[in-house]
Amino acid sequence: MSTTAPRVLVLGGGIAGLAAAWECHRHGLPVTVVEAQDRAGGVIRTDILDPYVLDAGPDSFLISKPGAIGLCRELGIDGDLIGMKPPRGAWVLRQDTLHALPEGGAFGIATRPGPFLASTLLSPAGKVRVALEPLIPRRRSGGDESAGAFFRRRFGAEAADRIAQPLLGGIHAGDLNRLSAAAVLPQLVAVERRGGSVLLALRRQAARAVAGGAFRSFPRGMATLVDALAAALPAGTLHLGDGADALAADGAGWQVRTRAGHTLVADLLLLAAPAPVVAGWLRPVLPVAADLAAGIRYVSSAGVLAAYRDQQIARPMRGSGYVSTPEPGREPLLATSWLSSKWNGRAPGGTTLLRGFFGGAFDEAVLARTDEDLVALAHASWTRRFGISGDPVLTRVVRWTGMSPQHEVGHADRVAQIETAMAALPPVAVCGSGFRAVGIPDVISDARGAMQGLLRRWHTA
Ligand SMILES: Cc1cc2nc3c(=O)[nH]c(=O)nc-3n(C[C@H](O)[C@H](O)[C@H](O)COP(=O)(O)OP(=O)(O)OC[C@H]3O[C@@H](n4cnc5c(N)ncnc54)[C@H](O)[C@@H]3O)c2cc1C
Repeated sequence: MSTTAPRVLVLGGGIAGLAAAWECHRHGLPVTVVEAQDRAGGVIRTDILDPYVLDAGPDSFLISKPGAIGLCRELGIDGDLIGMKPPRGAWVLRQDTLHALPEGGAFGIATRPGPFLASTLLSPAGKVRVALEPLIPRRRSGGDESAGAFFRRRFGAEAADRIAQPLLGGIHAGDLNRLSAAAVLPQLVAVERRGGSVLLALRRQAARAVAGGAFRSFPRGMATLVDALAAALPAGTLHLGDGADALAADGAGWQVRTRAGHTLVADLLLLAAPAPVVAGWLRPVLPVAADLAAGIRYVSSAGVLAAYRDQQIARPMRGSGYVSTPEPGREPLLATSWLSSKWNGRAPGGTTLLRGFFGGAFDEAVLARTDEDLVALAHASWTRRFGISGDPVLTRVVRWTGMSPQHEVGHADRVAQIETAMAALPPVAVCGSGFRAVGIPDVISDARGAMQGLLRRWHTA
């Protein structure tokens, strides 16, 4: 059992790397985080253009999972959290018509009969099929399947195409028929494995609804979480603006060379960068794991943020925004968040702030367009749908090139194989959205768990 303090190195300073560093710090151990960009946070980025607060990537996190809300409590910033403004309803755009997602639902599946029957999103036959879910026998085979196959089996094709695809597509920018059910819907898959009804489980989840809705954000945007973490870590922990270039096993530990030519040594190494970067690091050390990591697909997306004066919008949306079903011939705008209706303080009074999404698994080709084209496409779509007159008063385009990991069928096995192969190396682990978790709460929990695993390995060595 090792009693000396290990030298701990985290490569990648997104929320995963920062949360892992925080976990290490909570164990009383110094840690260094190497981050390629000159700011921490990765895809979590807020641009403040006073009085506008522009979340470029994530704009909120779920509080039904403990990872993010628990971390906020530890950092003492939970009192700053804000809930979504009512009405919180969301919409699905299908065949050029907006349909309200039935209220009182969880995961877009209505769990109360009234709103469900009134919804125009599913046909009567589609609704009956959803209601029959408790009678559907559980799947006998234990292997992974696509999230599309899971939803079709449990709730029917309509619910899969019109509810699950737009919602999961919005979260993962992905194709339901390629995403892994076990990876992206683990709780629902577990309910079925236990022989329970997924519909009833969703109903129980909806019954636990809390005031302010399921999501939280900060008045000054999601960067508040990143800034609080960075401030809570001891000075000198973050090594910004210098990416890790190459790793080499060095006796029982590691040597890491950075792009600026520094050499860092570590006893415990946590790889918290996107999977293709991790693959590059592992290539000379463990080619088999590098090949597995390189096989994790990523897709790209872009966001258009635009502000309009309220009086420019003849038919504003009631609710937080819409996601669209990816049918052939649909317009290129994949989704719109009505940001100023979701959160207080995102835009000056009398102004509406919208964010449109392009790209994802079904339409990466649109990202070849220029920023001006994307703004024009979003503006044209909103003008037609919401009766906008005149130009936006502010626009901004954010591109997330190869930043959305696709946890496709078999993903968990792939990650398990990477971990098994890495067990032969000096202490090293992977974390971050490319591997075991995607949403901010799960990424935080997973990264902290990965750090705990490394520390355990050190202490039991
Ligand atoms: C557009 C978008 C919107 C989202 N919205 C939400 C949301 O509303 N709610 C939610 O819960 N989740 C959301 N997510 C998902 C969530 O934000 C991410 O899963 C999570 O932030 C990923 O964190 P990460 O640290 O794993 O990865 P990243 O944020 O990608 O961080 C990886 C870090 O590694 C660094 N790096 C890369 N190469 C090197 C190198 N060579 N050396 C050192 N560092 C390197 C990168 O610069 C980066 O900072 C969204 C994701 C996207 C893309």
